[in-house]
Amino acid sequence: MKRLKYDVVVVGGGPAGTTVARYAAKNGAKVLLLEKRQEVGSPVRCGEGISKKILQKIELEPDGGWIANEVAGAKIISPKGSVLELSEDLAGNETGYIIRRDIFDKHLAKLAATEGADIMVKTTATGLIKEGGKIRGVFARQLGQEYRIEADVTVAADGFEARLSREAGLKTFLKLRDVDICIQYEMVGVKTDPLFTEFYIGQSYAPGGYVWIFPKSENVANVGIGVNLMFSKEGATPKRYLDKFIASRDDLKRAKIVEINGGAVSVSMPPEVVTKEGFAAVGDSARMIDALTGGGVMNGAVAGKELGEALGKMAQEKLTPNEALKEYEKNWRRRLEVTLARNYLAKERLLELTDEEMNDIIEAVGSIKLEGLSTAAILKAVKEARPSLAEKFADFL
Ligand SMILES: Cc1cc2nc3c(=O)[nH]c(=O)nc-3n(C[C@H](O)[C@H](O)[C@H](O)COP(=O)(O)OP(=O)(O)OC[C@H]3O[C@@H](n4cnc5c(N)ncnc54)[C@H](O)[C@@H]3O)c2cc1C
Repeated sequence: MKRLKYDVVVVGGGPAGTTVARYAAKNGAKVLLLEKRQEVGSPVRCGEGISKKILQKIELEPDGGWIANEVAGAKIISPKGSVLELSEDLAGNETGYIIRRDIFDKHLAKLAATEGADIMVKTTATGLIKEGGKIRGVFARQLGQEYRIEADVTVAADGFEARLSREAGLKTFLKLRDVDICIQYEMVGVKTDPLFTEFYIGQSYAPGGYVWIFPKSENVANVGIGVNLMFSKEGATPKRYLDKFIASRDDLKRAKIVEINGGAVSVSMPPEVVTKEGFAAVGDSARMIDALTGGGVMNGAVAGKELGEALGKMAQEKLTPNEALKEYEKNWRRRLEVTLARNYLAKERLLELTDEEMNDIIEAVGSIKLEGLSTAAILKAVKEARPSLAEKFADFL
């Protein structure tokens, strides 16, 4: 078994892990990033929609290499066909750019490498090194070679399965209602407005979730669906609903599928603690996905920057490992927790709404002028249209 020693070992080369590696290395830490697949970024399991704000938050210049399309906003479509148009800044964390995730993720890995992080691909972390109640690194395997990689801090950025977080003892267990199952087709021949993402909401489209159309270019789009796992016992498989949706539209019926991908997303709250002595989880592994939109790229990267910077301070001996992890817990929560909690509550309410109630909400909100669209204005409009509905949302609004 080969032995390696680093300040920080990061498991997982998605947006969260690569961003931790980038900022930890930039701030002086000796970093190793492990990715089990043969290349960072591929295969893609994503609708590829992100908000533009992510770029400033993680200091990224927009780049035609990984931006497939820029959109101006989102259309939310009710079961009855009413359309609510939202500008990009109001539309949530999946609207702004439609990216090429494979190129995007690899670009982030290249930034981490440029800052000095070491990267090992085709390398699977097989378990945690635990000594005296403390996590001291990981065991890993690359092409038949076994490794013992010691580190002051081990970072789990291993995505939805969250294997390392579980092994570390974090409470990442998910209830059925806190998981959406997704499937997506990349389709050619889609006649949609390339300036808007589209979200079709309501139980008849997607029980507990939504159908999305994210335009990548004039006639190419990611067409996908997320269905809440709670409904799967009643036979609501995402593929059945997506195929039904496609069959109902003339353009989609004729469009050709060039890629199928899918996976699960957590639509939960994050656990109360995402760190242990010598260990931190980030991104999907720490359940940081926005429960309302299912978007997790931006949250993983934003939290990843906080963690990387704190670990840089550890390497510069300004903070002990424990202090660095405390700083990370404080800072990622400051950035994300209020929105995560609010959107989790919204998801809980929307899960229970009927198609008729969804129609009423979209029509009521659609009557507000865009510049006046605030939480209070939404509540007022819904209250006027359907007082009983407004009551359901009163506490979280
Ligand atoms: C169908 C679908 C559509 C989605 N659409 C969107 C969208 O449009 N916008 C959006 O913002 N979010 C979307 N999401 C969610 C988004 O993809 C995730 O939130 C995001 O990828 C999380 O980033 P991450 O770095 O935490 O994890 P991941 O991107 O999942 O990266 C984890 C990495 O860890 C690696 N890994 C796992 N285990 C090990 C191990 N033991 N050793 C070494 N490496 C390991 C994996 O190979 C992977 O590369 C979607 C998800 C799905 C499933």
